[in-house]
Amino acid sequence: MHDASARPAPTDAPARIHADRDAGTLRIDWADGHATTYDAVTLRWMCPCAYCRGEAGLPGWLDTMPTLTPDQTRLTDVALVGRYALAPTWADGHGLGFYTFRMLRDACPCEACAAARDQDAAVGARHDAAGPP
Ligand SMILES: [Zn+2]
Ligand SMILES: [Zn+2]
Repeated sequence: MHDASARPAPTDAPARIHADRDAGTLRIDWADGHATTYDAVTLRWMCPCAYCRGEAGLPGWLDTMPTLTPDQTRLTDVALVGRYALAPTWADGHGLGFYTFRMLRDACPCEACAAARDQDAAVGARHDAAGPP
């Protein structure tokens, strides 16, 4: 076992972005050589916009655990927002979410990243237990 804090921070700079509308996937090749592939359903559930996530302490639409229709999980377009985020558009017309590259990298669903997050979560839980509520 090695110290999780010694792990270099993953880059959030994308080298290449490829949305495959037929397969319903979004692939991001990162500048450090790592590759992340999101399926559209996972991506839809991550939508960070105020409508989906809620704001000011109020729950968002996705917090109500809706049953998503095929249109709501079908990517129709992916736009680049400056240098920091992607804005997917969905077949139901939704396109308000700015998915920052930081967030997309942090939530990378590959096995290596999931394992690293588990380790971080374990460390975080210990910190939470020791800290103020
Ligand atoms: Zn949204
Ligand atoms: Zn990964």
